[in-house]
Amino acid sequence: MDEREERLFEMGLTPIWRARAIASVLEAPPGTSDAPGPKAPSETTVGAATGPQARATIAAAPRATPETTVVAAPREHEIARLDWEPLISSIAGCTACALCRTRRNTVPGVGSTTAGWMFVGEAPGAEEDAQGEPFVGQAGRLLDNMLKAIGLDRAKDVYIANVLKCRPPGNRNPEPGEVAKCSPYLERQLALIKPGLIVALGRFAAMTLLDTDATIASLRGRVHQYRGVPLIVTYHPAYLLRNLPDKAKAWEDLLFARSTFARLQSGATSQT
Ligand code: URA
Repeated sequence: MDEREERLFEMGLTPIWRARAIASVLEAPPGTSDAPGPKAPSETTVGAATGPQARATIAAAPRATPETTVVAAPREHEIARLDWEPLISSIAGCTACALCRTRRNTVPGVGSTTAGWMFVGEAPGAEEDAQGEPFVGQAGRLLDNMLKAIGLDRAKDVYIANVLKCRPPGNRNPEPGEVAKCSPYLERQLALIKPGLIVALGRFAAMTLLDTDATIASLRGRVHQYRGVPLIVTYHPAYLLRNLPDKAKAWEDLLFARSTFARLQSGATSQT
């Protein structure tokens, strides 16, 4: 006990509760950390009392014990602090859900990290899983053509990512638990890029970003907001491959997105 602790003890203000940095706890070799487990006697003793009084003191003490309380930063808070490189490494090493056992590659995203536009899809398919890049299969070729049609280049003007960074086996729908575990990565990507406009491609992207289960049909044609960033909803390119008549609606959505982006940019410029 140092001098200050002794003084506090005299005043009946011990024990001193300390939150330990999670990193030091996680990195410490077994037996040396302050994580729950056997403690050295000096760490488990409350004050310096001994005998029956000590037992009474311990029984009346708060549930936590001094020096043993580890306040783990929730995983999403850790992710929310990551810069690009550690973010991509974190995705590459993620084992937060069972998809890590069946994936070949993680698929974080592609494009410019300073892009004005962000396109968000659902989850990697087989080709994306093989290459580690989103939208490189048939749906991706359609997306590239849609981008070109409104004057956008996949590498320069946009950043493309999915809600899930790993492929669901057999291209099944993402499960709610998988979306919950993976969403902090997408949230961090959006926070780092700060796009001028988000385009949600299909139901899962819209559901995740807008926290709604409304249909795409009811969400189209309006400017929504995701944490203050304007967001437009359109059909997923894979859906359009199976439902050709809706391509005309997707084209309307893209024109709406282009005019919205231009309006927002000119508004932003005239305010500066
Ligand atoms: N579908 C998606 O939602 N994302 C991809 O990356 C590929 C297909």
